[in-house]
Formats: sequence, structure tokens, C-alpha cells
Amino acid sequence: MTSALRIALQKSGRLSEDSYQLFKECGIRFDYGTGKLRSVSSNFPAEFLFLRDDDIPGYVEDGVADLGIVGENVAVETGRSVNTIHKLGFSKCRLSIAIPRGTEWSGIQDLTGKSIATSYPTLLGNYLKGAGVNADIHEISGSVEIAPGIGLAEAVCDIVSSGSTLLSNGLQEVETIFRSEAILIANPELDADKQTLVDKLLFRIKAVQAAKN
Ligand code: ATP
Ligand code: ZN
Repeated sequence: MTSALRIALQKSGRLSEDSYQLFKECGIRFDYGTGKLRSVSSNFPAEFLFLRDDDIPGYVEDGVADLGIVGENVAVETGRSVNTIHKLGFSKCRLSIAIPRGTEWSGIQDLTGKSIATSYPTLLGNYLKGAGVNADIHEISGSVEIAPGIGLAEAVCDIVSSGSTLLSNGLQEVETIFRSEAILIANPELDADKQTLVDKLLFRIKAVQAAKN
């Protein structure tokens, strides 16, 4: 007997609703939002795990889950060995550098010797390295935007969608370093039976996307 695909989704956050909706549109039924951490589909050989998004790449790399949906930003930041098998087109956002409003800005080299608060030290570090800029990266896990206001850092590097959070914290966006959307990731060593199920799922996802375009 073929074992079911295990699919890791964000429990509750900016990826959740669209992730659940995607499977619904693919005709795959499962319960969510009941507080349970797992749910078995009633009409497709799949079991869903509801997790924090940051943990999903690790679970997929380790094979605890076969597939997962995460933001590309998180997939790249965690540096886990997983395959990106499809871009999903939702939860679009960008990772940008912002500085206190009114500060002069002539380019990324202005950050030389400055301190930057971020939850994305790897992505930021790679970007600065590529630009040949030496700066001090302060990793903090949340509420990054308040760092300049409380004297913790001179700039921030954070996720932006509309920019209203930056604005309300007196910051201005000066440089985009990464553009992200939700992606479907897979364990690189799926067996043939699971790969067949993944192909079946991908076929449905592509049909749903094609119908929308
Ligand atoms: P968790 O509790 O699961 O750790 P979180 O607070 O880390 O959640 P969310 O804010 O729900 O994460 O964001 C999840 C992903 O959604 C981000 O990694 C990013 O890819 C994307 N995202 C973040 N902010 C926005 C936004 N404002 N608009 C669209 N997508 C976003
Ligand atoms: Zn998270």
C-alpha cells in the first residue's frame, strides 16, 4: 500500500488561508482551524501537518514531511536542502532595507560601519557581501521596525508588503534585497510512489492556476 503524502502548512499566519484554499480548489478535502495539529484528507492520500512556517523547511529536509508551503524568503534563509518544485503566486512580499525618515541616502554603501536589525541575517549578509559593504548585523526575531527608534540599530532589513508598518515607525524603504512569494518545497529523496502522488497534485495545482489566468 502506498503511504500518504505528508504536507506541512503554516498553522496560522500570512500563508495559511491561501494554502488551505489552494488544496480546496484542487478538490482535496481536509479539516483545518480546529486546533488540531494534523488532519487526514478524506478524498486524497495526504495528511496535513500544521506548523510554524520557520520549522517547515527543516521538517521537509528531514523527511518528517514530504512537501511544504513556505515563503521563498524563509526557504532561502534557513538554507535547508529542499527542492523548490513550484511557485504558488500568493503571499508576495519583499525584503527591504529601511532607514529613519529624513536620513539622507545615496546608496547601499551608506550602510558601511552601520548596524542593521533583521530577522534575515543570511539573506542580508549575502546581499551586503555581494555589494562589498561591511556592516554590523543584529539578528532579532520580531518587531524589527522599532529597533532604530529605541537606539538598537541604525537601519532595518525586514519584510514589506504595503509599507504602512515602516511608515508608522518613522522609517523609509531605501533598497529591496529580495522578492518573495509562497513556494511548494519537497524532500529531495521521495520514493517513486510518493513522486507519483506529487505529480498528481502538481497537475491539479497547475490546472487551478491556469484557470485563474
Ligand atoms: P509563524 O507564527 O508561523 O512563525 P510568522 O509570524 O513568522 O508566522 P507570517 O507573518 O505569517 O509569519 O508570514 C509568513 C510568510 O508570509 C513570510 O515568511 C512571508 O513569506 C510572507 N509575508 C510576510 N508578510 C507579508 C505581507 N505583509 N504580505 C504578504 N506576505 C507576507
Ligand atoms: Zn515564522
